[in-house]
Amino acid sequence: MSMIPYGKQDISENDISAVFEVLQSDFLTQGPAVPAFESSVAEYCGADYAVAVNSATSALHIACLSLGLGKGDVLWTSPNTFVASANCALYCGATVDFVDIDSQTYNMSVDALRDKLELAEESGSLPKIVIPVHFAGQSCDMREIKTLSNQYGFKIIEDAAHAIGGKYLDKAIGGCQYSDITVFSFHPVKIITTAEGGLATTNDQNIARKLALYRSHGISSDIEDMDDRPEEEIWNYQQIDLGFNYRMTELQAALGISQIKRLDQFVAKRHALAVRYDELLVRLPITLPFQNCLTYSSYHLYPILIDLEQVEKGQKQIYNELIANGIGVNVHYIPVHRQPYYEKMGFSKGDFPESEIYHQRVLSIPVYFGMTFEQQDKVVEVLKIALVKKEGV
Ligand SMILES: *Cc1c(COP(=O)(O)O)cnc(C)c1O
Repeated sequence: MSMIPYGKQDISENDISAVFEVLQSDFLTQGPAVPAFESSVAEYCGADYAVAVNSATSALHIACLSLGLGKGDVLWTSPNTFVASANCALYCGATVDFVDIDSQTYNMSVDALRDKLELAEESGSLPKIVIPVHFAGQSCDMREIKTLSNQYGFKIIEDAAHAIGGKYLDKAIGGCQYSDITVFSFHPVKIITTAEGGLATTNDQNIARKLALYRSHGISSDIEDMDDRPEEEIWNYQQIDLGFNYRMTELQAALGISQIKRLDQFVAKRHALAVRYDELLVRLPITLPFQNCLTYSSYHLYPILIDLEQVEKGQKQIYNELIANGIGVNVHYIPVHRQPYYEKMGFSKGDFPESEIYHQRVLSIPVYFGMTFEQQDKVVEVLKIALVKKEGV
């Protein structure tokens, strides 16, 4: 039996030709495709600068470095995210803390953030950076978070790994109207793919320059950046900081250029599937994903919350039953503070209760561009059987 996965890339003939062409060209890396891809993403999002790298994890790391995060600093993010949103702080020697989620959107709660900032100000432990995560592709309330950043002086990195193609207040996510940097992922389960890949957008020229430096060993070929030395000692490059090799290849960039042409089409199909799920699942004992009217989601995920009081089986049993029937469900996410590595740092069960209650009820059901309505009907049919109600409810 073939599995209907929770997410999957869609590769066209044009995507294949684009990569093939690069293979026969002069540059496999550090050629013209990466800057061309950066321009197309910057243009799509309405951002001034875009820096492409080999993953969103790398982008988050150098985004933190570019904002000066280091030892003794604190970074806050959502517990309902992939571990990379928090790990990036640890790479920089900083410490991580979390802000609990909103029970409707599953994004970082603005009220919880406000309360935590008030306490942190009193104890002199304000964060240097806050990373709101646009969970499932739905933007956080960035206007509110930006207001708090002005008040308390923290920087903002939007983790938009789920959210390229989404909008907030009618503007494309990634325009950085309410943040310093936005980060995207192009992993195959995300909205568009470059196999592995990530990108950071910003409107700040100095941040863009730092991102580009950290991406490639801290080396610059720009005479303006270089250390003032006698003419005989100036060559075509200098290492002026400590960076990494986080570069995206030309093959990946060519795939990205080809994929972004279909981005709106990808998101439109995800919306069509979401609308159908909304209708077909409405009578089941589950909570469907709430949509904030300020946002247009990219629908990276379609998370449903099981009403455990009404349903006969437990979350794990339902999960197993769906898998056994060829439906590739997933749990997004195990709260990061409940990961063994984070518990060893001192976090424990009960620290961020909304994210834990959510986690105990959630299942992400399949949604991706190539999914047919017939496949979706199959998902609905299996769900209806799995979610049989207890007697008497
Ligand atoms: C996928 C993901 C990342 C990491 O992306 P990679 O490109 O795989 O490094 C970071 N944050 C979130 C929220 C993600 O879903």
